[in-house]
Amino acid sequence: MTNRIDDLRVANSFAELPREFHTFLQPQPLESARLLHVNEPVGEMLGLDAAALQSEEFFEIVSGRRPLPGGQTLAAVYSGHQFGVWAGQLGDGRAHLLGEVLTPHGRLELQLKGAGRTPYSRMGDGRAVLRSSVREYLASEAMAGLGIPTTRVLALVTSDEPVYRETIETAAIVTRVSPSFVRFGSFEHWAGKPDHLRTLTDYVIGRHYPELLDSREGEPADWEHTVLAFLREVVRRTAAMVADWQTAGFCHGVMNTDNMSILGLTIDYGPYGFMDRFQANHICNHSDTHGRYAWNVQPAVAHWNLYRLGGVFLGVGLEEEALRDALSGYEQDFLKAFHGNLCRKLGLRQWEEGDADLVDAWWRLLHGQRADFTLAFRRLAGARQDPAPFLELFSAQEDARAWLDRYTLRVQRQNWEEGERSASMLRANPLYVLRNHLAQGAIDAAARGDASEIDTLLTLLRDPYTERPGFEHYAQAAPDWADELQVSCSS
Ligand code: AMP
Ligand code: MG
Repeated sequence: MTNRIDDLRVANSFAELPREFHTFLQPQPLESARLLHVNEPVGEMLGLDAAALQSEEFFEIVSGRRPLPGGQTLAAVYSGHQFGVWAGQLGDGRAHLLGEVLTPHGRLELQLKGAGRTPYSRMGDGRAVLRSSVREYLASEAMAGLGIPTTRVLALVTSDEPVYRETIETAAIVTRVSPSFVRFGSFEHWAGKPDHLRTLTDYVIGRHYPELLDSREGEPADWEHTVLAFLREVVRRTAAMVADWQTAGFCHGVMNTDNMSILGLTIDYGPYGFMDRFQANHICNHSDTHGRYAWNVQPAVAHWNLYRLGGVFLGVGLEEEALRDALSGYEQDFLKAFHGNLCRKLGLRQWEEGDADLVDAWWRLLHGQRADFTLAFRRLAGARQDPAPFLELFSAQEDARAWLDRYTLRVQRQNWEEGERSASMLRANPLYVLRNHLAQGAIDAAARGDASEIDTLLTLLRDPYTERPGFEHYAQAAPDWADELQVSCSS
């Protein structure tokens, strides 16, 4: 740990890629910027102690006033498919990569989101509103608390600078932290340029998937073989990530290929949502009128996105058949992760034939009665000792009781002491979840310069499984007005 930012060991591997990959530039700092919140656990990962995080220099870096010492600030180019349609060149329209810090947790890149226009801004203003910045800040840490792979956040800077969306809002800057911000779209960008595609592929494998090279030590270099192994691993990680989303009731909202991390991390939090009342075809993004990214289609969309990524390599001589093979493991990978998650959440020792029917009936029950997703799983943990709190979540309690009877027969067949089983379920089913109305409370307070609600939520969400006296209110189902909170692509 250090109290001096200058002590950080900083490198710039992405900046060393050929110049077509990025543009070097400086951020445009906000007028009247203030440091609203610092995420100490991530500061600690970077090796920065409390004094460093409170320093003027830290504030100047996270507000875009001065570069990271030793870093080369840049915006990266990428392309992508948006809502199923090829959108051509996109890129960091409002993100500035500051450099990478060498830490005991590996190399971590720092990126400012909302620090002004870049050559990739198109019609945008390069800014991010406070509302969406608070939402990204909270969601990253909520996902980390749930153990779901995600980019992280370091700091949140606010200002009085107006930003024009549907209404006038104020601008903010979030500092994000990730081993890499490379997306599927970064590869799609070079679909017709074999040299650059090879360069990017070698860079990503060398830095983030070095084990794929090690395993071939001593054998003749076989680039195509390594790329297929790389794709296979991206498929596996993406499948596992989406399985985690499904069992947390998380909807990403904008699963465009430019929002899919090459490391299988949840990235680019926009109009996401953690479901309150369960609806299988729930759409969290108000702009997604056709439900392309509804909860129940997320697994299929991720597979479609992987096909866009895989297809890029047709241009550098990989066989269609071999690519198809690499992508075909997706369904198995997804089901394995999904069933594993469900076993933990439902207190099943292992997935058995017949469990698919039980789980289908579970989803039908929740969907039919619009029961609260998080509370239904959570209260199921104690339902065999005292079914009342669980049954209360349902309007037609006899249906819930019938399912519970079926479930009881299933769990009685396994050899697992009920107290232990229940405790294990409480460690797999969060009590607290980042509901839209809770995020809204933190946004409203943040707009008054008050970060205490962010603090409270972070405390609960970093360990969402542990019940805390005095915070009952945060563990309740959403109030009716929460249905009217609309989250759209506008951010
Ligand atoms: P998103 O859907 O938020 O991930 O953004 C899609 C693309 O639009 C990315 O290239 C972003 O950088 C860009 N973009 C989104 N909002 C803005 C903005 N306010 N200013 C400039 N570019 C933006
Ligand atoms: Mg994006």
